[in-house]
Amino acid sequence: MKAILFHTHGGPEVLEYTDFPAPQPKPGEALVRLHAAALNRMDVMVRHGWQGLKLEYPHIPGADGAGEIVEINSPLREGEGLGVRAGDRVVINANLGCGECDACKSGRDNLCRTWHLLGETVRGTYCEYISLPVRQLHKIPDGFEYHQAAAAALVYQTVWHSLAARGAVKAGETVAIVGAGGGVNSASIQVAKYLGARVIVVGSNSKKLEQARALGADVLIDRSKEEDWSKAVFLAAEKRGVDVVVDNVGTTFPLSMRALKKGGRLLTVGNSATPRFEIDNRYIFGKHLSILGSTMSSIAEFREVMDLVFAGKLQPVLDTTFPLREAAAAQERLRRGENFGKITLDIS
Ligand SMILES: [Zn+2]
Repeated sequence: MKAILFHTHGGPEVLEYTDFPAPQPKPGEALVRLHAAALNRMDVMVRHGWQGLKLEYPHIPGADGAGEIVEINSPLREGEGLGVRAGDRVVINANLGCGECDACKSGRDNLCRTWHLLGETVRGTYCEYISLPVRQLHKIPDGFEYHQAAAAALVYQTVWHSLAARGAVKAGETVAIVGAGGGVNSASIQVAKYLGARVIVVGSNSKKLEQARALGADVLIDRSKEEDWSKAVFLAAEKRGVDVVVDNVGTTFPLSMRALKKGGRLLTVGNSATPRFEIDNRYIFGKHLSILGSTMSSIAEFREVMDLVFAGKLQPVLDTTFPLREAAAAQERLRRGENFGKITLDIS
């Protein structure tokens, strides 16, 4: 099969478009012919590598994908059928729980003791064929696009778990979102609106803020004009502060904590800036703040939020589609932050 892979860490030049043996499905797995993959910031981070990251080379990047089931290697374990069969169009859940530990058995797959993320520690979706346990697949309804499904999978499950489950965002609350550009931010705007919240978006330029408005953001704050945007957020929330801040930048935590009201929650699923920074503990205890982190979601939450996407209640924003062979250019667009919404790869 054709695949994008790399043998060593580095810049976009380490990515090769080449031939690689297609995987064989193990018992309980399905072989999927991928039609679309979607990029995540994590793909670029894995390509660069970090201390302690161990990969089996060559590594194939990519967490998100959608395609058609070619074959299923039966027998499936109890409860694993989930109604998919050869020929079905499916979207992939990149959150790989073992299915057997206490966390997985209690439906908290993203807390699995031997957790893996597709494309991070195991070979991913920048290729024509992938083999995965059947429980990782969710059926796409007729007429729904592969690219839309692939673009939604990782970000919407992450945001759904963070805002709906961890953050327990309720109707009538005010949510501030730090950042307007990436897939997680655009999904956060939509999910917060879907949950009935009023949404304030802090963005880096007027173009991205206008796009945020189109997704339903109620208040826009341009941080290129207001360096201390925490005050602007505070004032926009009746001078009481916001109930929730979604902050996936990291270094902005001090400003986010100032923008929160007493008893507020800071939600985080990643850091687009450096992971290490200082915070002032007095804000945490003095304002009774909760910092709630999470990664990905349970299988049940993945299915729940994908069905909302399929029903059109949440609409993934697509930026640009590149052919698979141009994955390096696609990653560069993402790394430079030129995208609004998801970049996808066409594998058909
Ligand atoms: Zn497990």
